[in-house]
Amino acid sequence: MVKAIVGANWGDEGKGKITDTLSKEADIIVRYQGGANAGHTIVNNYGKFALHTLPSGVFYDHTTSIIGNGVALNIPVFMREIEELVERGVPTPNIKVSDRVQLVMSYHILFDQYEEERLAGKSFGSTKSGIAPFYSDKYSKIGIQVSELFHEEALREKVENICKLKNVILEHLYHKPLLQPDSIMKELMGYRDMISPYLVDVSLYLSDAIKKGKEILLEGQLGALKDPDHGIYPMVTSSSTLAAYGAIGAGIPPYEIKKIVTVCKAYSSAVGAGIFVSEIFGQEADELRNRGGDGGEFGATTGRARRMGWFDVVASKYGCRIQGTTDVAFTVLDVLGYLKEIPVCVAYEIQGKQTTDFPTTDQLKKAKPVLEVLPGWNCDIRGINKYEELPENCRHYIEFIEEKLGYPITMISNGPGREDIIYR
Ligand code: GDP
Repeated sequence: MVKAIVGANWGDEGKGKITDTLSKEADIIVRYQGGANAGHTIVNNYGKFALHTLPSGVFYDHTTSIIGNGVALNIPVFMREIEELVERGVPTPNIKVSDRVQLVMSYHILFDQYEEERLAGKSFGSTKSGIAPFYSDKYSKIGIQVSELFHEEALREKVENICKLKNVILEHLYHKPLLQPDSIMKELMGYRDMISPYLVDVSLYLSDAIKKGKEILLEGQLGALKDPDHGIYPMVTSSSTLAAYGAIGAGIPPYEIKKIVTVCKAYSSAVGAGIFVSEIFGQEADELRNRGGDGGEFGATTGRARRMGWFDVVASKYGCRIQGTTDVAFTVLDVLGYLKEIPVCVAYEIQGKQTTDFPTTDQLKKAKPVLEVLPGWNCDIRGINKYEELPENCRHYIEFIEEKLGYPITMISNGPGREDIIYR
């Protein structure tokens, strides 16, 4: 069976932890979109890891980890991540990479930096990992698919054309050094040597695995509100963050995705710019940020302080719907244990009218949060593994949100570790 694990919100919902937990019962874990621009933080018996490219199943020796064709693959980051795992005692993971995956090039990273510099204060808050320039090139048909590395002559011609195009912008817009075809070719040949051992026809491999009844997890990056079509455009990422895209980014039939586990965090956080209706500020935000996640809400890739807010029913209900949720995994609930009262954003008020339907960005700009305050449970819930043993106010919080979302919360995460999970 194929299950997707995706985010309802702005990312950092704890998908990595849920994937790591569910990987125990899985055979194959697939990354199908995005690149090294976001990270998953995983805490297990080997220690604490921030993964950017590898799927969160790499810690088990019974699983195969797959990089699907939809990923923006940064080969040096990929290689470094494998090395780090092995150095820290994790068994050498079994990894396969799609022969249709495309490569993040050093110039994609440079273009990302130059554009952020040019936009200065008006920037999109990019992590400068080259992801937007990568996907722009992919859809402009000047991206480099890994299979092209084996046809040097044709590749050289393509690289010369790429340099011609890019150099106009480098010279006239950014006033930066020009690209040299020779050095790009050298970079590419280096990548060819590094990646060759991992390449397979992933779509075919997964097709066989599905026939054999294997348990396959599709691991999403970021969340529904960062999707380029359905998110808070233009403050979005450059590849689809939705479970539906799993079919494309892994190369499997859409009807094979039988379960969609949407990860919702018990409060909100976001990185980068963009409208965030339930955002809180000052000391209230600092306290939640410092207590949040596992050791504070700071980006796994960039270390940036995340913006904080109360749980947003409107955004999460929309996120769950657009993902096609069958199950909600409700995470980081333990963090709220310090609060006597917990505000929840239950609706938006837009020009005097209340709504629970998530609007387009222009309307979102005018939205004000409508808060309802629930009683806190004011104690530590870590270590509890039965739903009935959670404090009454905690269960009330979960059931209140479940009712507002309209999707079943079947998993509750009450700590960063693998075993900190309550099935319901
Ligand atoms: P992802 O990108 O969705 O995987 O999320 P991140 O890894 O960026 O952020 C989630 C953070 O919360 C990480 O530091 C996790 O270790 C941590 N985390 C996940 N689930 C829980 C939980 O239930 N409780 C606590 N306290 N931390 C959690």
